[in-house]
Amino acid sequence: MANATLTIDLGALSDNWRSLDAASGEGVETGAVVKANAYGLGLARVARSLSETGVRSFFVAEVQEGVALRRALGDGPQIFVFSGHMDGDTDAIRKFDLVPLLNSIEQMTRHFEALSGSPFGVQLDTGMNRLGLEPAEWDAARRIVLGQGPKLVMSHLACADEPDDPMNARQLQAFHDMTDGIDAPRSLAATGGILLGSDYHFDMTRPGVGLYGGLPFADAKPVVHLRVPIIQTRDVAPGEAVGYGASWLADEPARIATVQAGYADGLIRLMGDRTVMFAGDIPCPLAGRVSMDMLTVDITHLDEVPDHLVMLGTQQGVDDLADAARTIGYEILTSLGSRYDRSYI
Ligand SMILES: *Cc1c(COP(=O)(O)O)cnc(C)c1O
Repeated sequence: MANATLTIDLGALSDNWRSLDAASGEGVETGAVVKANAYGLGLARVARSLSETGVRSFFVAEVQEGVALRRALGDGPQIFVFSGHMDGDTDAIRKFDLVPLLNSIEQMTRHFEALSGSPFGVQLDTGMNRLGLEPAEWDAARRIVLGQGPKLVMSHLACADEPDDPMNARQLQAFHDMTDGIDAPRSLAATGGILLGSDYHFDMTRPGVGLYGGLPFADAKPVVHLRVPIIQTRDVAPGEAVGYGASWLADEPARIATVQAGYADGLIRLMGDRTVMFAGDIPCPLAGRVSMDMLTVDITHLDEVPDHLVMLGTQQGVDDLADAARTIGYEILTSLGSRYDRSYI
């Protein structure tokens, strides 16, 4: 088997959910966010595994993801949809028993007219200005909406990965101002909000990235392992160049391995020579630019040429790659390409 192999550790995924569930505290339900194909790791496998671990409420970005999730999980778990009830969503919401998180008066009107009596939640804007009702809209609508018994009233934090950011306390206060005294269950915290402490937990938490081993959950177990086979090795003499743009020059005799994964597989080109791959415990720096389907790696210092190198695993995680590529772990995860052989353990 010559393909690069992405191994997804479902045991570590479950352990991460249990840790975040424990951190969410007694009496708080811990859901799971599985949007974007479970952050690139495979919706059906990830969601089934989380369901077996005890997750009862799942969150997706849009109705089509909700349909796929319902097919994977069958009846039972609640499936919340962040984008709410969009034009054209009505049939799928009804048929697949999805719970739209209504974001605007327009969506509320649509939902109550088309699917009166069917479950819904409400999303409030507490300062991120992305989704949800503004305080004034909520004031106008809340009596009617609360009378329909929403399954969840939620908002989202903009800066929860920075515990000291004053935005967190401001959004918390705004959420209290908008929701104190209501009967419906409330939710404010994603992964970062769970780590901010119990003031942020309310009735339900909604972790995503922490389940998959990413920051800000620093204690997460690594979930993603990526090993990439070496296609070819060669010796280069001092003064010879490697790769596009001839950007890497050997200053002494070197041995270069060409491995089978590139930016088309989500190994972002910008990470260039700030990244290493591992041969066992030994780091091997990238040499030259990332190609579409290949990387070149300096393995001069290895005693033996292995048959593969490791890009993601216990030595180097998604956030290390993200730093090198000047992005965030979320983008590394969701960029992992479709060419990998995926194996679930
Ligand atoms: C993506 C998302 C989450 C999960 O966030 P993480 O930072 O991945 O834990 C929770 N709530 C909303 C509204 C989201 O968009």
